Amino acid sequence: MNKTRVQIIYSLAILFLIPALLAFNTLLLATEVRQDYDRELQSRAELANSVMAVSVRDYVETDDKVTASERLTQLSESQVELQNITILTRQPDGYEVFSSLDKDFVISTSDTLQFDISYSRKWPVAKNVAAKTLNGADTRAWNVVTPITNDSEQVIGLVSSDYLTTDVDEKFDATLSRSLVIMVISAGAVIVLLLNHFRLISYVGLLKKQKELNQTMGDFLSVATHELKAPMTMIKGYIANVIDGDHGKIPKAAKDQLEVAVNQTDRLNDLVKDLLNVSRIEQGKLSFDIKPVNASEIIKMIVGNYTAVAAKKDLVIKYEPTDDVWLMADAGRVQEIFTNLIDNAVKYSVKGEIMIQHKVDGKKIVTSVRDTGIGMTADERERLFQRFYRVKNEKTKNVSGTGLGLWIIKQYIDKMGGDIKVDSLEGSGTEFRVSLVSANKKIS
Ligand code: ADP
Repeated sequence: MNKTRVQIIYSLAILFLIPALLAFNTLLLATEVRQDYDRELQSRAELANSVMAVSVRDYVETDDKVTASERLTQLSESQVELQNITILTRQPDGYEVFSSLDKDFVISTSDTLQFDISYSRKWPVAKNVAAKTLNGADTRAWNVVTPITNDSEQVIGLVSSDYLTTDVDEKFDATLSRSLVIMVISAGAVIVLLLNHFRLISYVGLLKKQKELNQTMGDFLSVATHELKAPMTMIKGYIANVIDGDHGKIPKAAKDQLEVAVNQTDRLNDLVKDLLNVSRIEQGKLSFDIKPVNASEIIKMIVGNYTAVAAKKDLVIKYEPTDDVWLMADAGRVQEIFTNLIDNAVKYSVKGEIMIQHKVDGKKIVTSVRDTGIGMTADERERLFQRFYRVKNEKTKNVSGTGLGLWIIKQYIDKMGGDIKVDSLEGSGTEFRVSLVSANKKIS
């Protein structure tokens, strides 16, 4: 049996078991409570009947039916639970109704004039019955028969009465329905929890599949980009040789076209490089060699590489640190981070200047790359660090790129415990601020 099946069977078992246990427990408790109530009422009924037997004894002895009847009415009015009270007197041939508030009883006994008391050995006798009358409905009651004895302890009569359990039954029913409501709610809650549990299981399954797919994609990307790199370097090298005149002078038109080919190969190279980085990041194959790095030296070198390209666009790159800036970081990643930012600043500016500066912020050093370029809207700024995101408008449509650079460098910065922020105004320029851990050396 596979794991998912076991999980489903297990969940279904819980789904039915918990509400069933709840129901069983509720019924068990309810039955116990009812039994306790009943025992309590039985003893109350027996006590009430005994008191009655004593209080009507004199009237039975003096054969005072009128006062006995008044007494019965008084008693049943003072205690509403007491109903159908009947006094019987002992006759040589059985029992005879002396006084009664119970019409049914009088009729039934007067028919036979014989009260069949099969349980007359042990007094008082109480049994649980459906009392005959209470607003026409059958009501549960304790029927108790108690002997009336004279001074010589002889049984001279019997008192029979019904002690209604209406009040208790009502309370009990209310308690039971409350418990049932709670049970239904709990069962509902369990079902909701389990449904969520099922959803979670299916999400986990999906996630696993997604992970496998990502791994396959990553492997593919990694192999494909690796394999692309070598031929492209060769293509570029051979074209460069032809442009440089290694095979004789070539016409200007041919040279121009070959230069375009070199540019396109550079673009392809960038794409391959970015894709390779993405696949490395996704597969967690990035390694960082963290040690003190002279960031200002790296940035100076990058600025040097871009000065000519920038000058062609009437752009000046300003970077004048008064001292060396040391970071605790991976030198290669630092170079990629600032290359990307300076490259973007050049790419997305028409003219003006690009200013690079450092600022100390506690244990971090914040390096800002500010340009006077095209800038961007707040909405574009929000999405800037998403993978493959590129701002699409008139100003960017001729600028080549993959939309991966910022995403990649953000991963690097995050992994090195840093942070990247951006401020930008459409048409005015952009400022990226990269905060990385300082190597605690003196800076300007
Ligand atoms: P790309 O390869 O497209 O440059 P990036 O991830 O480096 O990819 O940048 C994503 C997008 O952010 C760019 O396409 C561009 O629209 C915008 N962007 C980045 N840097 C700047 C900047 N300095 N000024 C204006 N827009 C920028």
